[in-house]
Amino acid sequence: MTLKIKLLPTDEQADLLLSTMKEANAVCDAISEIAWENKVFNQFKIHSLCYHGFKSSFGLSAQMLVRCISKVADAYKLDKKTQRFFRPLGAITYDSRILTYKDFSVSIWAIGGRLKMPFVCHNPKYMPYIKGEADLVYKKGKFYLFQTVDIPDEDIEDVEEFIGVDLGLTDICVTSDCVKHTADTLNAYREHRQKVRSSIQAKADTSKRSTRRNCRRLSKRLQGKERTYSQIVNHTIAKSIILSAKESGKGVAIEDLTNIRFTSKRRNKKFRTKLGKWSFGQLRSFLEYKGLLYGVPVVVVDPRYTSQTCNVCKHLGKRTNKHFKCNNCGNDMDADFNAAINIATLGAAVNQPEKSGMYCSLHTA
Ligand SMILES: [Zn+2]
Repeated sequence: MTLKIKLLPTDEQADLLLSTMKEANAVCDAISEIAWENKVFNQFKIHSLCYHGFKSSFGLSAQMLVRCISKVADAYKLDKKTQRFFRPLGAITYDSRILTYKDFSVSIWAIGGRLKMPFVCHNPKYMPYIKGEADLVYKKGKFYLFQTVDIPDEDIEDVEEFIGVDLGLTDICVTSDCVKHTADTLNAYREHRQKVRSSIQAKADTSKRSTRRNCRRLSKRLQGKERTYSQIVNHTIAKSIILSAKESGKGVAIEDLTNIRFTSKRRNKKFRTKLGKWSFGQLRSFLEYKGLLYGVPVVVVDPRYTSQTCNVCKHLGKRTNKHFKCNNCGNDMDADFNAAINIATLGAAVNQPEKSGMYCSLHTA
């Protein structure tokens, strides 16, 4: 997990941080060239090739030089087919030898000596778990540290009951404890965005080339904004589900979507309606990660038949639109809610296979 920390340097300190980033990335380029010419890409070999010469000819501290060597080695790990170059203001990595935190200020190495400056962090409760490396990132005139934190997972609690989470037909998800996370605000937001996008497109279509380029850039930036918005929505939903599970001493059961898109046409259609390309995979990974954080077990269940089975008598019934009706026992209820209860039941079965191993999938035949 990484913690985003915003630095608050003075103007003078900001200039020094910028020159530090430029110098470090220039050194990375120089190291990269030597690595490329010698066809040497392993960190230790690059080190023995470059370290001493660079130590005396550049203004970097020993540890910052080590970090640069490792940045170059990492870049070549991805691809050894082309020489690597680095953006002048690309992120540079710090570790505890060149970056320390104390009482709401950081002491960070820069060319000319260490700088001490205040910072803000929106998740101060994670500060005690700071460990390992941090990336110094310059973005839109501001400096951020993306600091690795190592939070010990809570022991996963032993639970018998589960909250089932049925994923998106019209709502993003519905849980078996009766909570609907609707897509209303999300859809309103998207509609608004769509309007903005088409007006940009309209402008681009009728404009000169230079304006067209600006429009393209703007669209790209807006796309990024929408992604962030979706991320916040998923984050909020995951947190709310995990916290309510924690409070009620339950686990969380979700549908396995890995194969669903390819195996079943109908479900495929389900996931195309309204929510479009909603990132359920991201929601699932947020749930799993937050589950670990709060000690709530999260299990994945087979989604087949969860929406067609009656949660009361387990007979197959009919789902029409938003409604589920069972011809066997007369159960008549909200279809998503019915599915969520089935998922909860499966969750309990998956979690305790010794009790009901063969019912891990509904109607396996
Ligand atoms: Zn029934």
